[in-house]
Amino acid sequence: MVLLIRDGLVVDPSRKIEARLDVLLEDGKVAAVGRGLSAKSAFKGMPSLDAKGCWVVPGLIDLHVHLREPGGEVAETIASGAQAAARGGFTTVLAMPNTKPPVDDPALLADLRARAAHAPVRVLFAGAVTEGQGGRVLTRLEALAKAGAAAFSDDGRPVRDPDLMSRALARARDLGLPILSHCEDPDLLGDGVMNEGPEADRRGLKGIPRACETVMVCRDVALAEATGGRLHICHASAAGTVTSLRLAKARGTPVTGEAAPHHWTLCDQDIPGRDPDYKMNPPLRSASDRDAVRDGLADGTIDAIASDHAPHPRAAKALGFEAAPFGIIGLETSVGLAMTVLLGKGLTPSALVDRMSAAPARILGLKSRGSLAVGMDADVAVIDPRLSWTVKPPFASKSSNTPFMGMRLKGRVRATIVAGRLVHAL
Ligand SMILES: [Zn+2]
Repeated sequence: MVLLIRDGLVVDPSRKIEARLDVLLEDGKVAAVGRGLSAKSAFKGMPSLDAKGCWVVPGLIDLHVHLREPGGEVAETIASGAQAAARGGFTTVLAMPNTKPPVDDPALLADLRARAAHAPVRVLFAGAVTEGQGGRVLTRLEALAKAGAAAFSDDGRPVRDPDLMSRALARARDLGLPILSHCEDPDLLGDGVMNEGPEADRRGLKGIPRACETVMVCRDVALAEATGGRLHICHASAAGTVTSLRLAKARGTPVTGEAAPHHWTLCDQDIPGRDPDYKMNPPLRSASDRDAVRDGLADGTIDAIASDHAPHPRAAKALGFEAAPFGIIGLETSVGLAMTVLLGKGLTPSALVDRMSAAPARILGLKSRGSLAVGMDADVAVIDPRLSWTVKPPFASKSSNTPFMGMRLKGRVRATIVAGRLVHAL
């Protein structure tokens, strides 16, 4: 199986390339990258894709998605979530284990991996840190790793007990896998529903203080330092989290971080009244937090962009701001938002592709992805930087809970290729 991607702007930060080149994919791998490959007689008549005016980048990797299978199939399935990923330029996604039941059992993990084998993109799974994500007993981390867990996380909840978190970090270190930490102090969370401050007061809603996130970031950084376990901070939303990451990295602590598009695009002032499509956890913070997260992404303190794609059915979001579940969908809007909000405002094309492909590959230890070097997996996204579009249904996702509805974005995925096979074309 061969495919020649002609005349696009190859943006490959792993090799510091930003140049108009052809890319040849063969038998599921990158076979050649060069100028004028399409003119060579050997490649005449070969199946090809015209990428003129587009970026050709290593397939995007989203290391934080919720696919809701098993137990929440009314909101999303592995198949529909993978379709949404393909539309968004993602060729690999990591599904979080807070399903019903949670992925704390090697047999369930193996079953889900078998189901995902038929999906249009590569779906990886994180195993739970604690049994039932109950925060009391560690899961069989070794058995989960053996069954193919790509990371460990109790996402949706923190690991409240520091001793348990410490032991989890030490065991994950020995297994060579990261722990993805949802940093949230339950006592500080209380029954808050949006960022603490004047915007919450104005709406008569209970606030979630920034410290709810930052105290646990500090704790986890200390535990990573003590154990040498690889810590990854999920969905950084507060300026203090960025500061902690910056200091921890300066000390050489094995810590990485991610930020979601909503946290660097919106702030609490943007919430129209009590619209539940603006309710997520962590919540939209203040304008200065949003700017700090953007700065963190720009200077690499925050390594990766992750969507925290969290589909919910219309009926659940219709319960009103206080009762509705936390979360928004994100797979189909991440690239458009990144290019509209970040490009040229702190992030170069190479930096953007690093945050969305090369960095997540590094965090997850995916050695054959995140780059278009010869021999790497033939996972590619073709992105048109000039294409303007409006966020609106239909979505490939089964859900449509997004605060970006109706927003005009510039930059859209034209084609997504996984293992040399076209899985999405506009
Ligand atoms: Zn989370």
